[in-house]
Amino acid sequence: MQRFTAKKSVQNISVSLWRRCLSSSSQTAAVKDSDEFLSKLPPFDYVPPPYTGPSADVILSKRKEFLSPSVSCLYRKPLNIVDGKMQYLFDESGRRYLDAFAGIAVVNCGHCHPDVVEPVINQIKRLQHPTVLYLNHAIADFSEALASKLPGDLKVVFFTNSGTEANELALMMARLYTGCQDIVSIRNGYHGNAAGTMGATAQSMWKFNVVQTGVHHAINPDPYRGVFGSDGEKYARDVQDLIQYGTTGHIAGFICEAIQGVGGIVELAPGYLSAAYDIVKKAGGLFIADEVQSGFARTGNFWGFEAHNVVPDIVTMAKGIGNGFPLGAVVTTPEIAGVLTRRCYFNTFGGNAVSTTAGLAVLKVIEKEKLQENASMVGSYLKDKLTQLKEKHELIGDVRGRGLMLGVELVTDRKLKTPATAETLHIMDQMKENGVLVGKGGYFGNVFRITPPLCFTKDDADYLVEAMDYSMSKMGRK
Ligand code: PMP
Repeated sequence: MQRFTAKKSVQNISVSLWRRCLSSSSQTAAVKDSDEFLSKLPPFDYVPPPYTGPSADVILSKRKEFLSPSVSCLYRKPLNIVDGKMQYLFDESGRRYLDAFAGIAVVNCGHCHPDVVEPVINQIKRLQHPTVLYLNHAIADFSEALASKLPGDLKVVFFTNSGTEANELALMMARLYTGCQDIVSIRNGYHGNAAGTMGATAQSMWKFNVVQTGVHHAINPDPYRGVFGSDGEKYARDVQDLIQYGTTGHIAGFICEAIQGVGGIVELAPGYLSAAYDIVKKAGGLFIADEVQSGFARTGNFWGFEAHNVVPDIVTMAKGIGNGFPLGAVVTTPEIAGVLTRRCYFNTFGGNAVSTTAGLAVLKVIEKEKLQENASMVGSYLKDKLTQLKEKHELIGDVRGRGLMLGVELVTDRKLKTPATAETLHIMDQMKENGVLVGKGGYFGNVFRITPPLCFTKDDADYLVEAMDYSMSKMGRK
């Protein structure tokens, strides 16, 4: 069993809130408390090799000088993460963190899973990049295995390198197939950051001031903040209205996430998707399921859409598909796929031998280690515990999500649902000090995104909830 201690100084925290709740005389006690707390981190039998690379400060100054100013870091004092093993990450000093973010819902099998790493190393030693213009078994084997995970006629796979590319391709196919231009997407959704996908993305902070055309954004069927509460059918009427009043009456398609990820783990109101699906079909549109975050067993189903009784025409995926390797895919029917033969569609790196080897390994690990079942079981355990924590802390306005795609929304006033943005940042920092890394999202940046590797255990869940409780209690709000 390894024990890791907290750093012996309290960080230079700028938020006045933190100053209010922790006077300097109590800092030493706080560090001691934190040390004690960290000793409860579930045991884990792995010691990373010593790190001899540059320090966090050196890396940060290089990033500032050479990387785009748009590339930001989490935490007031950014973390230098140098090792990973399953659901744990390690910083430059060897300190261990429970990873409840998984590189933004990517590392579903766990960090550096040997059954993913080994086949990839073997492939890269043998051949890295033949291009798809020659035959090689890696892409063929993976596309066969991937197609077997999808229902009905969804049997034709195109590989890309990212979720954005996958969604761009899906939107284009829908437009080509239907001969229509109009797409409906949902407000607060995120689908990527290239020309078409930025149009489909519906949060102002992700939309640059460039031409974005042909997308209508429907009212978000958000059970917590939405105008119709949990009445999915009422929200779906807005899709009908958009089509009726904003288009020719025919659309190319409808794109949505089964659970909004970047938007703050927002579940669709019950009944929404199946009602919207019928409306879209009547208008001749294709239903595109964006499974970039919710796919690959994360929600306790293999695909997020499975919880809604609909079969999409096109499914897009990335993130969890490669456990960290740059890989995305679009899966559709042979008939829809046929539109791409009208011109040449080619993607140099899409479907390369190394990424597709990783993809196949990921499917095997999910199956062998029953990660879908684990996501469902540990996810509902964790959700129950977080819901209990809501009883204790007024600050928690909502707990939601499925499987290991969970959200905790913080508000300063439960009735007004005032976003607790500063508090979210502060607690996230404190949780990091207490050995837990969570993500953050939502339009107001006030939602914890809990999307750990799917090998997360009940003990990990207990520790996460304790760390959240401890950090919230320290805020002096209960
Ligand atoms: N769709 C969804 C649902 C996403 O969450 C993301 C990434 N956050 C994307 C698409 C775009 O994926 P990528 O960053 O790989 O381009």
